[in-house]
Amino acid sequence: STSRSPVIIIGAGVSGISAGKILAENGIEDILILEASDRIGGRVRNEKFGGVSVELGAGWIAGVGGKESNPVWELASKSGLRTCFSDYTNARYNIYDRSGKIIPSGVAADSYKKAVESAIANLKNLEATNSNIGEVIKAATELPSSPKTPLELAIDFILHDFEMAEVEPISTYVDFGEREFLVADERGYAHLLYKMAEEFLSTSDDKILDNRLKLNKVVRELQHSRNGVTVKTEDGCVYEANYVILSASIGVLQSDLISFKPPLPKWKTEAIEKCDVMVYTKIFLKFPCKFWPCSPGKEFFIYAHERRGYYTFWQHMENAYPGSNILVVTLTNGESKRVEAQPDEETLKEAMEVLRDMFGPDIPNATDILVPRWWNNRFQRGSYSNYPIISDNQLVNSIRAPVAGIFFTGEHTSERFNGYVHGGYLAGIDTGKAVVEKIRKDSERNNSETQNF
Ligand code: FAD
Repeated sequence: STSRSPVIIIGAGVSGISAGKILAENGIEDILILEASDRIGGRVRNEKFGGVSVELGAGWIAGVGGKESNPVWELASKSGLRTCFSDYTNARYNIYDRSGKIIPSGVAADSYKKAVESAIANLKNLEATNSNIGEVIKAATELPSSPKTPLELAIDFILHDFEMAEVEPISTYVDFGEREFLVADERGYAHLLYKMAEEFLSTSDDKILDNRLKLNKVVRELQHSRNGVTVKTEDGCVYEANYVILSASIGVLQSDLISFKPPLPKWKTEAIEKCDVMVYTKIFLKFPCKFWPCSPGKEFFIYAHERRGYYTFWQHMENAYPGSNILVVTLTNGESKRVEAQPDEETLKEAMEVLRDMFGPDIPNATDILVPRWWNNRFQRGSYSNYPIISDNQLVNSIRAPVAGIFFTGEHTSERFNGYVHGGYLAGIDTGKAVVEKIRKDSERNNSETQNF
């Protein structure tokens, strides 16, 4: 049988939940949320590992302490989420070479400065490409050489695959401040989403018990016309709605998981293809004891290898969970995909070799490993959107623009904060408001039509 709702929300990540909350606040409570996985949260997801709760997806509340307040930081404060201040600017002073020696801070600082200058020159060069040829040549001659040594490669990796803040202003830090807080709460970062969901869905004992939220519902087809949208799920169910809010990630939109009938217009599919998908993987390793330094300024450390991005960026979890004996190593893009495709024992072996380079042959083996697979997860297909550095608002506007009754939301539709939890949160609010507005206009039109008769 087919059920009809005014609004169907596809996806129960932060954007889907915040959109639902806005609808409910505006009296639109007859909604349906279809979520492909078996839980809410999406890319906000924690798991028990080595006796504590670790965040496989978003881990930090980024952008705190500035002139404006980060709405996710507000939610965290309100619900008493446990966080700890995180400062990875020190990472550049904890760079190990393959023989386990720490690179002298002067040398590291020098190399870092050069890398920042080079990145700025590159950026100018790119901008010039968009303007005139004289500037291109000028920028090109100013361009320092590309990174070659393990140290240069390591610094290039942290600069480009983590932080561009020193090269280009990032709205998150400009608007909300430069501090970052690591979520270290047994209830998980997702607790914020449960709190939000609680405001408009029925819950009991920290569980959502509301038949407006349907888990394990994989949407495979959206048929849209002027009369509304028909939603088909993998288990053969059909739902009808006047409007659909689609929060699936940019990676999912690029995949063939959801087919659109009729197909999406070309301006839309072309825009979707142009947005890059970043893969970001945090690998967790549990040890019987600590063998790494834990003094202040040592939370983050770097391994310099001749292969760029090879187990480069490390963090110990002693600040978050003292005594947990857990290390986290972050891989991105190509390295993430490579590791996702191999058995975890292989990854464990590689990571142990790297750690033995840094800390000597006598360190104990890890007793457990956790390797998230965001790239191979067909409901994610990557970690977050990454707009080309030189792109105007046109691209994100096209990705966000509704098609018939389908409204697109999610972090990738946030013009200022894509790639962040607060980006998803604010995008959901904006989309929720747009749908409320649309429904209001529809009903005004209907009313005036009836008056005319
Ligand atoms: P999602 O959370 O992906 O929600 C979309 C939902 O749609 C998912 O639940 C998915 O299962 C569902 N779905 C997809 N397809 C279908 C379908 N066909 N049918 C039904 N449901 C479907 N942000 C930060 O602010 N700080 C960080 O430190 C940080 N680190 C990160 C680290 C990693 C490893 C990752 C992966 C992300 C990180 N982010 C971070 C980004 C942040 O997690 C995201 O920007 C945000 O959670 C995205 O929310 P969303 O609602 O847009 O999408």
